[in-house]
Amino acid sequence: MQRQKIIVGNWKMNGNLAFIDTITSELNNVVFTKNVTVVLCPSFIYLSALSTKISNKNIKLGSQNISEHSSGAYTGETSADMLNEMSVKYVIIGHSERRCIFGETDNQIAEKVKRALANGLTPILCIGESEPERDQQKTETVLSQQLQPVIDKIGIEKFKDVVVAYEPVWAIGTGKTASPEMAQQTHQFIRQFLANNNAEIAEGVSLLYGGSVNAANSKELFAQTDIDGGLIGGASLKVDEFKIICSTAQGS
Ligand code: PEP
Repeated sequence: MQRQKIIVGNWKMNGNLAFIDTITSELNNVVFTKNVTVVLCPSFIYLSALSTKISNKNIKLGSQNISEHSSGAYTGETSADMLNEMSVKYVIIGHSERRCIFGETDNQIAEKVKRALANGLTPILCIGESEPERDQQKTETVLSQQLQPVIDKIGIEKFKDVVVAYEPVWAIGTGKTASPEMAQQTHQFIRQFLANNNAEIAEGVSLLYGGSVNAANSKELFAQTDIDGGLIGGASLKVDEFKIICSTAQGS
């Protein structure tokens, strides 16, 4: 089975209307192979503007978060219905910045995944260990503890519509990347963990690597058996570099 190759650009709290013009004029004309999807995730306020500028069918709109609630008195939150109205197709859920800075819990993250799926949005579920956790050989325990509540909440069968992004926290925005071998080993663990619940589903799940991916290291990372693309932060704001990363995914 050929898994979908996915490159996600997480702009975080960066970007503006001028950047939207620049990146779409560069990416709209790229001819992507059928199994490559590029997901652009701006701040909520720019979803509408970006949506009107995307004209390449391989490029999809993504958000950086979603509320676990359907509607109501949740000041500052954005619902699945609202995202659907803006033509959003993918949602980053459980990014380490949401977990660490905003205190999102595993249970809340599982609720968000459930909410996204129930509304036809594809969750990009982020998991990853911190540096001390890796040093203490707790990586697999941490990843299991992050995955299990989601499996319990939605059931393993629903993972056919979930993308998982492995992002070691120590590699995000630091310039330190997991070596391709280390990344492959951890991705293999994640796939096996899912396979212990359902082997067929696990085989079809796109697993992305995130953490200081750039034009220079993407080729080796994406060439790994269990790596199906990347979640790109800093380099997604550099149009030329991001274009190279996207084309690397086509060749991997
Ligand atoms: C991220 O924000 O998910 C990320 C991986 O950032 P960076 O590529 O800058 O490390």
